[in-house]
Amino acid sequence: MTSDGHRAVGQVKEVTSLANPLVKDIKALALKKFRDQQHAFMAEGLKLVIDALDLGWKIHTLVFAKAGRGNPAVEKVAARTVAAGGTVLEVSEKVLSAITRRDNPQMVVGVFAQQFVALKDIHPRPGDVWVALDRVRDPGNLGTVIRTVDAVGARGVILVGDTTDPFSVETVRATMGSVFAVPVARATPEAFLAWRRGFPGLVAGTHLKGAVDYRSVDFSKGPTLLLMGNEQQGLPDLLAESCDKLLRIPQAGRADSLNLAVATAVMLFEIRRDALKLDPEG
Ligand code: SAM
Repeated sequence: MTSDGHRAVGQVKEVTSLANPLVKDIKALALKKFRDQQHAFMAEGLKLVIDALDLGWKIHTLVFAKAGRGNPAVEKVAARTVAAGGTVLEVSEKVLSAITRRDNPQMVVGVFAQQFVALKDIHPRPGDVWVALDRVRDPGNLGTVIRTVDAVGARGVILVGDTTDPFSVETVRATMGSVFAVPVARATPEAFLAWRRGFPGLVAGTHLKGAVDYRSVDFSKGPTLLLMGNEQQGLPDLLAESCDKLLRIPQAGRADSLNLAVATAVMLFEIRRDALKLDPEG
């Protein structure tokens, strides 16, 4: 056990009952209504929780399975949680399974405060890439886009209109931890359009009727705002008309379109082509 671990001992609450009010509150985070009420969300896995703490996210509660007792890494995270003013719960497998709704849950779950960046605080600089998603519906798509934005070194994601929750369990799982590294903003279409008018670079929409091949565009000058359409309907006219260019990814075969997250990835790797190197030092 680490010296930090010693400090957490004695401040850990042991819980075996599903009726425990703290457990009930955490279980409720599976529902958006309660996530919104508590401005909180759940992240599973020791590595994710450590990354979140390293990136400065505020932890409310750390939950760990009895099997984690004596594990130096778990005890260190417990000590960091206590030092940050959070609560630490040691729970039975049964309780952890109920919280995560999984038969074989991770050993550790963290409950964190939600964090959004305000649109007015986003001031893109040369080289920056932002992705705006119109009414994204599917949690897996949103999580995958957040993970891809992280992987290519884009700046963040703007959720436009009524979208799926970036802090749902499914989305957080699909981000594989990138939810903690990628700033997320949300805006009504009107607020987004007002902000977009001040955008100091190329606003590139993607559209199945786009006239421009995405590979013909020079993304090297200035920041880029990539605008992606809703899974079922694509971009509405108002958003499509706000773009400087409407780009298309050429396709062969019978598929009408690409999956939203796949199309976003194709675009991001093209936009960031010059910035991405196998060996950044080389
Ligand atoms: N039925 C929808 C439509 O008519 O647009 C399909 C939407 S598609 C599943 C989701 C989004 O991915 C699109 O709105 C667009 O932003 C992007 N997308 C998918 N395939 C694309 C392609 N070949 N070229 C450009 N954008 C594409």
